[in-house]
Amino acid sequence: MAELKRLSESRDLTRIERIGAHSHIRGLGLDSSLEARDASEGMVGQLPARRAAGLILQLIRQGKIAGRAVLLAGQPGTGKTALAMGIAKSLGAETPFASVAASELFSLDLSKTEALTQAFRRAIGVRIKEEAEIIEGEVVEISIDRPLSAAAGSAAPSGATAPGKTGRLTLKTTDMETVYELGGKMIEALGKEKVQSGDVIALDKASGKVTKLGRSIGRSRDYDAVGPHTKFVKCPDGELQKRKEVVHCVTLHEIDVINSRTQGFLALFTGDTGEIRAEVREQIDTKVAEWREEGKAEIVPGVLFIDEVHMLDIECFSFLNRALENDMAPILVIATNRGITSIRGTNYRSPHGIPPDFLDRLLIITTQPYTEDEIRKILDIRCDEEDVEMSADAKVLLTKIGVETSLRYAIHLITSAALACQKRKGKVVEMEDISRVYQLFLDVKRSTQYLMEYQSQYMFNEVPGETDGDD
Ligand code: ATP
Repeated sequence: MAELKRLSESRDLTRIERIGAHSHIRGLGLDSSLEARDASEGMVGQLPARRAAGLILQLIRQGKIAGRAVLLAGQPGTGKTALAMGIAKSLGAETPFASVAASELFSLDLSKTEALTQAFRRAIGVRIKEEAEIIEGEVVEISIDRPLSAAAGSAAPSGATAPGKTGRLTLKTTDMETVYELGGKMIEALGKEKVQSGDVIALDKASGKVTKLGRSIGRSRDYDAVGPHTKFVKCPDGELQKRKEVVHCVTLHEIDVINSRTQGFLALFTGDTGEIRAEVREQIDTKVAEWREEGKAEIVPGVLFIDEVHMLDIECFSFLNRALENDMAPILVIATNRGITSIRGTNYRSPHGIPPDFLDRLLIITTQPYTEDEIRKILDIRCDEEDVEMSADAKVLLTKIGVETSLRYAIHLITSAALACQKRKGKVVEMEDISRVYQLFLDVKRSTQYLMEYQSQYMFNEVPGETDGDD
């Protein structure tokens, strides 16, 4: 019982994890001429920014973005992260998307350049084409003009009976023993009714297994593609199939971690990768370059999204300047909600806290605050995403809250209101649930107001003119 409970709890946990803040974003919602649809692929409004992102997408697809980066600038909660996610999703399922907040780069475990390198390599995909286990097969063509033996394994194909079929069995091989052995095996493997004149079969020399590949009569495509030197791949079910490629998509960072002897692949799950030695990365880059030359691998540049970019310092910006020049560089999308502020690590101020030389590389897209109608549509999409049923009245109230406070605050109230509803054993979230959680959790405005009223009771109060004993 206890185990069952734990199981169901862990299921719930997985589900919560899957509904991320941006899980409803499936693309940029553009039409074929790259115009933004009003609401599509989970995206609502923000039309000029989405149109601009569409052009960026075109530049990326044409390989013309190298050496540049995209800056999404706008107020908090105006969809900057959502736009970056939309770009990555539009580039295809194989395109890696790595996202970091600039503040995460300043940790005690890793140097900031190591953390940035790891972020870059998480956003560079490698499509490795691997050939599956290849069996040297032999292609045999048969045509029947004499009755075939129905007895499995019977030696000679002659003198046998196959109702409705007469003919001669021709095996295009010079080895007669193979001819007789195959006749029986073929019938055993395929069933006599399935064996027809003109069948092309493959023989796995090691196991003796026979597989029908296609037919030569009418020069079917199957047969055209198969010749005496065709190689075969043994599939998990034991069938022989014409050689095929197995494609793996991994990121450079995953290859780094797996090959770093100090970390081992388990670090991929814990995220505790530590510093990866420069020699390991050099060896991997050389290997990948070799694979690319041999046509075994392709680089898939992904999207690296760095949020709160104003938190980066001057050293990080100089690293980024250099990293963008690399021919494997991912598309760098950065975002900030700051105006003119100081560049971290210097006494200079600049737009968004970004040094002028880096600003010069940026294509800047601005995001605008949402209208009431757009907020309502986004909340609607989020309710669907979180499987929350909400009455029309409650949605009106939640939208009003979104307009008065912030979109993000209103989105957060959806889950908590659903819990309040569950607690009173309701099925549909009503206005009462929304007001309850609105009272329980403060938004920024009310929290500030509260602090202003009770500031004297807090430690280290810095609001000027108030009594904290220092002045
Ligand atoms: P911050 O500056 O605070 O980092 P942000 O601009 O990155 O904020 P997001 O996190 O992208 O804002 O947006 C807040 C929430 O609203 C997210 O759940 C996001 O998916 C959703 N959202 C924002 N804009 C849109 C949109 N145009 N369409 C659909 N959902 C959106």
